[in-house]
Amino acid sequence: MDTEVVDRLVAALGADRVQRGTDSDPRFHRDWTAAAPVVPLAVVLPRETREVSRALALCHAAGVPVVPQGGLTGLVGGAQPQADAVVINLSRMNAPPRVDAVARTVTAQAGVTLQALQEAADAAGLMFPVDFGARGSCQVGGAISTNAGGVQVMRFGMMRAQVLGLEAVLADGEVIDSMNALMKNNTGHDLKQLFIGTEGTLGIVTQAVLRLAERPAGRSVALARVPDVTAAYQVLRRLGRALPGLTAFEAMWPDYYAFATAALGEAPLPLDEGLTLLIELQGPDPQGDDERLTAELAELMGAGTVADATVAQSGVQAERFWALREANAELMRHFKRLSGYDVSIAAGATEAFVASCRAALAALSPPIRLLCFGHLGDGNLHLVVATDDAPGVDARQVKRCVHDAVGAFRGSISAEHGIGRDKRDDLGITRNAAEIALMRRLKAALDPSHILNPGKLLPA
Ligand SMILES: Cc1cc2nc3c(=O)[nH]c(=O)nc-3n(C[C@H](O)[C@H](O)[C@H](O)COP(=O)(O)OP(=O)(O)OC[C@H]3O[C@@H](n4cnc5c(N)ncnc54)[C@H](O)[C@@H]3O)c2cc1C
Repeated sequence: MDTEVVDRLVAALGADRVQRGTDSDPRFHRDWTAAAPVVPLAVVLPRETREVSRALALCHAAGVPVVPQGGLTGLVGGAQPQADAVVINLSRMNAPPRVDAVARTVTAQAGVTLQALQEAADAAGLMFPVDFGARGSCQVGGAISTNAGGVQVMRFGMMRAQVLGLEAVLADGEVIDSMNALMKNNTGHDLKQLFIGTEGTLGIVTQAVLRLAERPAGRSVALARVPDVTAAYQVLRRLGRALPGLTAFEAMWPDYYAFATAALGEAPLPLDEGLTLLIELQGPDPQGDDERLTAELAELMGAGTVADATVAQSGVQAERFWALREANAELMRHFKRLSGYDVSIAAGATEAFVASCRAALAALSPPIRLLCFGHLGDGNLHLVVATDDAPGVDARQVKRCVHDAVGAFRGSISAEHGIGRDKRDDLGITRNAAEIALMRRLKAALDPSHILNPGKLLPA
């Protein structure tokens, strides 16, 4: 039966669109989470929506599960294949994006990478404002399906805020064309929301119409040192009032900053016990912005809120500052036993939450290392827990500590990475029983045979 469906897929789509089981390219066998590779029944590589539709209709008729895949950079195992499933990978649906500079929109197929989208917008003098470290590999469909965030959310919002319309294919192969390009369209249910942030469990996104913003003339980037989170939020309030182009407000806790500066071999601000902030301003007047940012930071230093600060003197230096904040690859190279968490915590509770996590992890085993950084401007912390020096501790124990602390502080166990397979069983920490029951009803209505990305997002 299972090989029959593969034969039917080959017959319907052609051999160049379908890779069979062990003959399929190993890069589709695992996602970024470094879980053990799994060989699926087949990997389908469609080039157009009707091929996605045909593939889903065949899998639906055969009752065979389907795992949608984009660029495989997801951090919660959402795109991880399974042995009894067909993978539908969208990476060949990457025709050049079409920019409408007058309407300030771009229409892109699901397989276009975030970077290609940004470059298309840039070539038209505009900007696609969602940005994060995986830009070169992650795709429009994956970013929509995870409602990705990144480093400019506080000003421009997450992926959800950029999507005007989209096209998606339901589990049975029906194509839903909801390619709205209007800024305002209050005509009944906002159907696109069914597919944004639902991680391929309700349909496969095949293309989208996205909003663009004006491209800023330049950017000003600074590092600032504050004694604690309270002072960091004071800086945020003040800069938010004084500097309209404030785009990023990131924080690095001392242990993360010490790691990143050692790994990259430079420390623009000396190490101490305080928080290091990375601040970015994007505006129409780069020189004026530099001056305004410098002046504001000088006043904050005079008032004792900021202990030290430095404004980047060139684009290259700005990149070096950002490299400190985005030292993920260095973390993965340095530590062998790592787990990462992406949590949201209310502004007033951040300091206590980090202290509570640290205490819980130390109680588990003192040599555990907690490195903390994140998008403080929107209350989103990334916690990296390294257990290289605590070999007796396993990842499940670490997850319990962190997620229980999130629950105690009424935060979210996923600020932007989604739930996938890895956080599925803890969904109830952040969403209540009635909410989860409604999610199940939506799932049953749209995918009654439960073939789309089973085992992801919803607890068993
Ligand atoms: C270095 C690095 C930095 C990152 N930084 C951030 C960050 O700052 N903010 C952030 O939010 N995320 C971040 N991520 C996580 C990741 O890049 C995002 O979740 C991204 O949106 C995933 O896109 P993808 O195309 O790689 O999707 P995949 O990993 O392939 O898939 C992710 C999920 O979406 C589903 N899916 C994929 N394509 C489709 C489709 N067309 N239709 C329906 N479902 C689909 C999959 O089934 C899976 O559940 C980072 C990842 C890395 C590796």
